[in-house]
Amino acid sequence: MSKGQLIVYSGPSGVGKGTLMYPYLQEHPEAVLSISMTTRQPRPGETDGVEYYFVSHEEFEKQIIQDGLLEYARYSGNYYGTPRKMVEERIQQGQDVVLEIEVQGAMKIKQSYPDAVFIFVLPPSFSVLEARLRGRGTESEEVIAARLAAAKRELGTAALYDYIIVNDDLEQARKRLEAVIAAAKCQTKYMKDFIDEVTK
Ligand code: 5GP
Repeated sequence: MSKGQLIVYSGPSGVGKGTLMYPYLQEHPEAVLSISMTTRQPRPGETDGVEYYFVSHEEFEKQIIQDGLLEYARYSGNYYGTPRKMVEERIQQGQDVVLEIEVQGAMKIKQSYPDAVFIFVLPPSFSVLEARLRGRGTESEEVIAARLAAAKRELGTAALYDYIIVNDDLEQARKRLEAVIAAAKCQTKYMKDFIDEVTK
């Protein structure tokens, strides 16, 4: 059985990453979203074990020491990290795993998993992003200002990724995401095992 594809998926807060990815995951049962661990507080409506595993600083640092994380980063004063076990197991079982992570973590994955595909979501403009972030209305002005500053820095890292999806029109952006993942999975480097199998 061929291995699954690791999909690293980034973009600034408020760009609509989740809205874009959700229908993909619904339509592709072979792909699963990794649930990250974080020390940030849950937002209203978020549930432990669904959006994130919400843990204490102590628990997070224990995971770091025990090498339980595939990557981790500090972002807006909190830790965020990818639990290693689930990702490695699913990839071995042939499932595709999506990591919705920020850029520092993405670059760590680039070193440890060079075969992963790296996708970045861009807003059509910075003002659109700002409006979306404010429209969410769940965070204080201080948090929003910090996130906007982080978003500006992150936008500058888009060129480090393999594919860029501009989230202008949602339907079009969804189609492009679908096409990009399909193309990534057809690359010769991912098909090596299959070529061997067919030709043996
Ligand atoms: P939020 O607090 O808005 O849910 O997430 C803040 C940022 O952390 C987002 O850019 C999100 O993609 C990123 N993030 C979520 N989980 C992880 C993770 O496991 N590792 C890293 N490096 N970033 C993450």
